Amino acid sequence: MTDQTPIQPARGCRDTPVLKERGQREVFCGLTGIIWLHRKMQDAFFLVVGSRTCAHLLQSAAGVMIFAEPRFGTAILEEKDLAGLADAHEELDREVARLLSRRPDIRQLFLVGSCPSEVIKLDLARAAERMTVQYAPKVRVLNYSGSGIETTFTQGEDACLASMVPVLPETDARELLLVGALPDVVEDQALQLLGDMGIGPIRVLPAHRADDELAVGENTVFALTQPFLGDTHAALERRGARHIPAPFPFGDEGTTAWLAAVAAEFGVDQETFERVTAAPRARARKAIAAAAADLNGKSIFFFPDSQLEIPLARFLTRECGMEAIEVGAPYIHKDLVGPDLDLLAEGPVISEGQDVDLQLDRCRAARPDLTVCGLGLANPLEAEGLSTKWAIELVFTPVHFYEQAGDLAGLFSRPVRRKGVLSL
Ligand code: SF4
Repeated sequence: MTDQTPIQPARGCRDTPVLKERGQREVFCGLTGIIWLHRKMQDAFFLVVGSRTCAHLLQSAAGVMIFAEPRFGTAILEEKDLAGLADAHEELDREVARLLSRRPDIRQLFLVGSCPSEVIKLDLARAAERMTVQYAPKVRVLNYSGSGIETTFTQGEDACLASMVPVLPETDARELLLVGALPDVVEDQALQLLGDMGIGPIRVLPAHRADDELAVGENTVFALTQPFLGDTHAALERRGARHIPAPFPFGDEGTTAWLAAVAAEFGVDQETFERVTAAPRARARKAIAAAAADLNGKSIFFFPDSQLEIPLARFLTRECGMEAIEVGAPYIHKDLVGPDLDLLAEGPVISEGQDVDLQLDRCRAARPDLTVCGLGLANPLEAEGLSTKWAIELVFTPVHFYEQAGDLAGLFSRPVRRKGVLSL
């Protein structure tokens, strides 16, 4: 097929020296991922082994589980557990037995570690192994950590998906695996576009149900839809699967480049590619243009939070005319975001990790038109007259692929426009 590669800037940011910071950080913990994962995986249950703080975080972030039978909960570690006076394993066994007898619909149980369970070194991997034997074949028990000690909030999804990879069945089939939890409507659009090009069979990780046909092997090729899946990427490569590197599917250009990389892998011809993508692409361009009018020429500063920062900076600078001052990301996996870094023109500071006070100083000195940051930093910055966008909204809002491209640009243009209106 004809090359669909976007035009690269004279110098991209792949080799830009990275400002590495290892100071205090202001981010949510990985438990947050449960909020969107539990909606995707319809026979899974997420049992957080944590404190009342963890339970409160989940309850207030989810907020809406009053009428539904929830698919997550917290096994609270009491003071006697934390002081080592009770056998937390025995209590956990009891909790799980109670839960599974009450909820026969559960087919996958995730024991989710937290700061308190890590502090007392509760071995949830051993507990999961023990329970897998006990409850097989009906329930599969896995574990991962959502602890906030060394993680950021999107890593919860990465850790969850990575925990599933080693237990996937082996296959020799040549299949495409889409990796990343997307809202159903967005996932359907992606599957439709790829299916219309004749690409298949396609599997999705995470699958809706434990018995969906999901397997992995040396003939599996996989495309990531989220840039924060570094551990899952490594786990899939350990199983022999091969990654299709591409810019992430944000905006017209990112979506086209992502689809083109998958299409090239499956030998789709140019005419088919054009036929399938032309109409949604035109809609995306039109929708982006409407929002970009407010963003053109405006500056943006990213604090590290969602790990979406680099692909979003690429989208906002190239398709919306913004100028990136600093692009901070909690971690930079060049195997994943390298293609986006290639397209991001040299200029912004690229920083990894955080030293929040130093970064706040840089932000205040730059006075960007828009700052993308966590909830904890947004209010103080707004009080200082800076417009902000909460990074967490970017994972709770459908923003991938063509049909959401206008909404993605709109997420950034709204606060800029509001500021303009207020200062009239
Ligand atoms: S896992 Fe840690 S950071 Fe997250 S809610 Fe629990 S105690 Fe707080």
